[in-house]
Amino acid sequence: MSLRDRPLKHWGWGYADEQPSAGELRSAAAGLREHLGFGWEVPELPAALPALRASRLTAPTPLAEICSAQNGIRARHSYGRSYRDVVRGFRGDYPDPVDLVCTPRSEAEVEAALEWAVDAGAAVIPYGGGTSVVGGVEPIGLDGYAGVVSLDLGALDRVLEVDEVSLSARVAAGASGPRLEAGLAERGLTLRHYPQSFQHQTLGGAIATRAGGHFATRHTHIDDFVESIRALTPTGWWESRRLPGSGAAVSPDRMLLGSEGTLGVITEAWVRVRRRPRFRASASVRFKSFWDGARAIREILQAGFGPANCRLIDPDEARLTFAGDGTAALLLLAFESAHHEVEPELALSLECCRDHGGRWDSVRGSDRSGDPSGAWRDAFLRAPYLRDTFVAMGVISETFETAITWERLPEFHASVTAATRSAVDEICGSGRGSVTCRLTHVYPDGAAPYFTVLAPARRGAELQQWDAIKAAASDAIIAGGGTITHHHAVGRDHRPWYDRQRPEPFARALAGAKTAIDPSWSLNPGALIDRP
Ligand SMILES: Cc1cc2nc3c(=O)[nH]c(=O)nc-3n(C[C@H](O)[C@H](O)[C@H](O)COP(=O)(O)OP(=O)(O)OC[C@H]3O[C@@H](n4cnc5c(N)ncnc54)[C@H](O)[C@@H]3O)c2cc1C
Repeated sequence: MSLRDRPLKHWGWGYADEQPSAGELRSAAAGLREHLGFGWEVPELPAALPALRASRLTAPTPLAEICSAQNGIRARHSYGRSYRDVVRGFRGDYPDPVDLVCTPRSEAEVEAALEWAVDAGAAVIPYGGGTSVVGGVEPIGLDGYAGVVSLDLGALDRVLEVDEVSLSARVAAGASGPRLEAGLAERGLTLRHYPQSFQHQTLGGAIATRAGGHFATRHTHIDDFVESIRALTPTGWWESRRLPGSGAAVSPDRMLLGSEGTLGVITEAWVRVRRRPRFRASASVRFKSFWDGARAIREILQAGFGPANCRLIDPDEARLTFAGDGTAALLLLAFESAHHEVEPELALSLECCRDHGGRWDSVRGSDRSGDPSGAWRDAFLRAPYLRDTFVAMGVISETFETAITWERLPEFHASVTAATRSAVDEICGSGRGSVTCRLTHVYPDGAAPYFTVLAPARRGAELQQWDAIKAAASDAIIAGGGTITHHHAVGRDHRPWYDRQRPEPFARALAGAKTAIDPSWSLNPGALIDRP
């Protein structure tokens, strides 16, 4: 099904017809309140969508058919889906909406729309699935422009061509995860890039944000799957050659990967696909401490193994997600292949776990029935829906992520946790709420810690509360030598810390490149870099 075929909520996650009723919300809230120990007894209901500020832009006749200034559509395109976004949408708070949403159905229409918008002096924000959690699609601080156009690629959503010899596929940028996988499944192929936002994220958005998928090792970022990219800049097409590898100077693909809509509108890409896995083996391993688990993982990775799943959850997070009782850290370890049995790799990896005190009940083969890690996996995929419920019941629920090398990980984890915990204590009440961690992606030389904050909210003060917690966490990340994002991207929310992280000559090079291909700085201004 295309992203356009079913009405989406204008504020939270997913489809309008999936929003729980008031009664369902009340019983969910009661259960969650008991589990967490806080949250409002009577959940708030989402505000009706208010009338938005009048649009400052009118599409010319040839584009009128693919442009909309309708309230709900503009509202949905004005925020991503971070906690801050959901809270504001939930309360009907849209002070600065986009003016027009343009949904081209062909590359020719992308060209026409971009040309018109640039000539009209508008800012243009490329839009995929709108699942950004970093303010990537939000029109902030764009006063110098005649208006803001959200250029929605969602109607370009097909698998266009498959090369079964080289195992690559040409895919239109607006293809959502399910759409893309359905197009490949017809041929027994798969991309197997499953971020938690899989249902609504698009390929173009993934490329523009350097998204991280479910693979915990080796093919972690979308970067690893991209063979070539085609994008439209205000000064012409940028298209790279399909190559398995190349040493020809700075890579044009690398420059578009993570460009966050600032350099070009990605319209399609060739991606490396694979045959669907037939062989699987997995186990859930318990460790007395998070650090015993971390040492086991490091040994597995440094021995050269590449498990598809290798997620280590701390004891508190295991308890909060109903995956454990809080007395042990939990490692979800899985191997897969389309080609050969993977039990031997799992067996050797489990030996590493045993050496660090790991214990497991059973090993699961290709038959997934009775898989006890299923509880965690289900919680992982349900989380986006649950977060809307958390907003309604007064629970701050948000995540942040980073990466760091192994030798610094323990100290870094301690300092980031302490800074975040003390901010939660100060802002939400001493000892209330939780700050938990899991390692989502791991490498031979380090790991990506992913933190979750659950804390009591004060009605109407949620944004200030979260902003203060997030600032404390981000300061600690940068001070500790980590990256402000491992896979969520920079957007507008991470700018102050990204600016501290990136080398200054690189910032000038990026601004120079943008000026060369986007002389009027029309494309997503304010994301990544400011106009010099
Ligand atoms: C519940 C939830 C779970 C998430 N889980 C993950 C996860 O597991 N891994 C992960 O990496 N991220 C995750 N995210 C973040 C988000 O899904 C990713 O950043 C995703 O890649 C954004 O894709 P999108 O199509 O929704 O892009 P959008 O949100 O529409 O846009 C994101 C950025 O990309 C630009 N952009 C979008 N399309 C194009 C295009 N065609 N050409 C040029 N620029 C474009 C936009 O201008 C913007 O700067 C999650 C978000 C949520 C809400």
